[in-house]
Amino acid sequence: MRPRVDKRRSEHVSQSEESYRSAGTRILILGAGFGGLAAALKLDQQLRPSDDTSILAVDRNNDMLFTPLLWTVANGRTSPNNVVVPIRDFQKGRRFHVLHAEIESIDLDRKEVRTSGGSRPYDILVIALGSHTAVPDLPGLREHALPFHTPADALQLRNHLIDAIEAAHQVDDPVERQEWLTFVVGGAGDTGIELAAIIHDYIITGLFKEYPWLADAPVRVVVVGRAERVLPMSDPRTSHLVRQTLEQEGIEVLTGRSITGVEETAVKTSSEVIPA
Ligand SMILES: Cc1cc2nc3c(=O)[nH]c(=O)nc-3n(C[C@H](O)[C@H](O)[C@H](O)COP(=O)(O)OP(=O)(O)OC[C@H]3O[C@@H](n4cnc5c(N)ncnc54)[C@H](O)[C@@H]3O)c2cc1C
Repeated sequence: MRPRVDKRRSEHVSQSEESYRSAGTRILILGAGFGGLAAALKLDQQLRPSDDTSILAVDRNNDMLFTPLLWTVANGRTSPNNVVVPIRDFQKGRRFHVLHAEIESIDLDRKEVRTSGGSRPYDILVIALGSHTAVPDLPGLREHALPFHTPADALQLRNHLIDAIEAAHQVDDPVERQEWLTFVVGGAGDTGIELAAIIHDYIITGLFKEYPWLADAPVRVVVVGRAERVLPMSDPRTSHLVRQTLEQEGIEVLTGRSITGVEETAVKTSSEVIPA
């Protein structure tokens, strides 16, 4: 037992608050997501053993969310635990330290950051606190649309898809059934396109296995984008190929259109109303 503990100690570099405060140069990284950890890893590579520098990364979470795999939670392929990586795993053998705390305020004049774990001074500050999903102030959007940014969002989406298929199974009215089987994705950028493909695939090849009598039911997955083409940040050829592939799979693509509002049983766009 003891050798294992000793080995783990030698793999991690730990540091007290006091030794951070007394270092010649204190680099404070706010956020240990993709950006914050990349900065910490790069700085670690560049530090010489003799440097009197201390690097501290602060994050409210113990784990880093690996967003590129979030879709695997939405389609039931994995659980939320499989799309996060413990932040301290990155610390092994490296010269940066981690404080698990909520960042509350930054005092630029005093060069100090207040956290739920106490204040920390800095000489160099790296701010990598991520982003919020921009939710436009459209009628009904907050009440009826689902966001997709966190493992909780992915689980909520998965549950919604399961509930929608169950509801489609239970209703007799074909119009109502079509509404339950219609899914609108707002945004035709990377994440929107990925989501549209996942929703379509999960329903057709996943959920419909449990409801084989629904296999011929008319599933509609519609992706709506404001730009004139999907993936507007990519080159036009990629946009064209992606659109072609989506349409071949039976996914409807509406570009050059905005979502203008969401109701309980419909999504309004600048050109049409989609019962959903
Ligand atoms: C569904 C989805 C799929 C994506 N897929 C891809 C992809 O395939 N490829 C790609 O390149 N990019 C992808 N992205 C984008 C990518 O996730 C972001 O570009 C990246 O996470 C940004 O890194 P960041 O360090 O700025 O922010 P984040 O990675 O979000 O890190 C911010 C960190 O700050 C912490 N934090 C925030 N506020 C506080 C506070 N007050 N106190 C303490 N801690 C705080 C958070 O806990 C978090 O750990 C995807 C995004 C989403 C939502």
